[in-house]
Amino acid sequence: MILLDGKATAQSIRTELKAEVAGLTPRHGRAPGLAVILVGEDPASQVYVRNKERACAEVGIASFPHRLPDDTTQQDLEALIARLNADEAVDGILLQLPVPKGLDSRRCLERIRPDKDVDGFHPENMGRLAQGLPGFAPCTPAGVMELLRRYGLSPRGKRAVVVGRSNIVGRPLSIMLSQPGEYGDATVTLCHSRTPDLAEQCRQADFLFAAIGRPKFITCDMVKPGAVVVDVGINRVDDCLMGDCDFECICSSAGAMTPVPGGIGPMTIAMLMQNAVLAYKAHVGA
Ligand code: NDP
Repeated sequence: MILLDGKATAQSIRTELKAEVAGLTPRHGRAPGLAVILVGEDPASQVYVRNKERACAEVGIASFPHRLPDDTTQQDLEALIARLNADEAVDGILLQLPVPKGLDSRRCLERIRPDKDVDGFHPENMGRLAQGLPGFAPCTPAGVMELLRRYGLSPRGKRAVVVGRSNIVGRPLSIMLSQPGEYGDATVTLCHSRTPDLAEQCRQADFLFAAIGRPKFITCDMVKPGAVVVDVGINRVDDCLMGDCDFECICSSAGAMTPVPGGIGPMTIAMLMQNAVLAYKAHVGA
């Protein structure tokens, strides 16, 4: 079994980006800038934001933190986004999700200028993705595809099954896998909670992607021997991080598999850095 090491791959990507940014920054008189908005005190979000800011520092991206209190109003949040949209030092704007109850995240995401939407959640970027046009791709599914690419595991002509249809992971991943191209061209089945006989669908998969949010939901009997298994899930169980797949049992029959942690999590952050550098290059005309 090939262990798909997202941690090491993400490190390589950050190192490549660091070299690129080091070359671009003096030439264009400023570093790439990423504004990070965190509303409230959600502990998991605080960890994610810290990891993103650490990655920015490593790559040479200036991060502009905006920590807002729990009782921030929709109006204040939208006003901040408007300010960041107009700020020329800011290439990318990230709104850490989830936002506290009472705030409308969808409305906020739609306020972010599409050319600063480094998370790829704006409907314009989602539409571009669906049509195969250039734009910002959501970081988690982009991280999945980049990991496959770097391991030379092409889904072309293969059966791919994605479990989970969220707008941030499952659905965009299913679109990417079905796009024409060497790392697309899969025949894709998108499963969800209304899919009958999910286990049988999963067993058909040459490439199986789990983005469900339920620990160890995908068990051995649901995986075809030799399949490539990508576990996007991050579930906190008794202070441990656990994926959506039963790793210990599946890894003995899978052809390749991602661990949790150390799989798609770090790849997601690496793709965020890549999107921030892309946004910067577009803004400075590099
Ligand atoms: P959502 O809760 O938005 O979506 C979960 C999906 O799983 C839904 O489409 C849901 O179906 C489906 N589902 C739930 N239960 C079942 C079931 N019993 N059978 C079949 N399908 C089911 O989650 P996200 O997409 O945001 O996240 C998924 C996982 O990925 C989570 O563990 C999350 O923490 C992790 N994640 C990891 C990231 C990373 O960086 N590695 C980034 C983002 C998320 P339905 O639509 O019918 O309700």
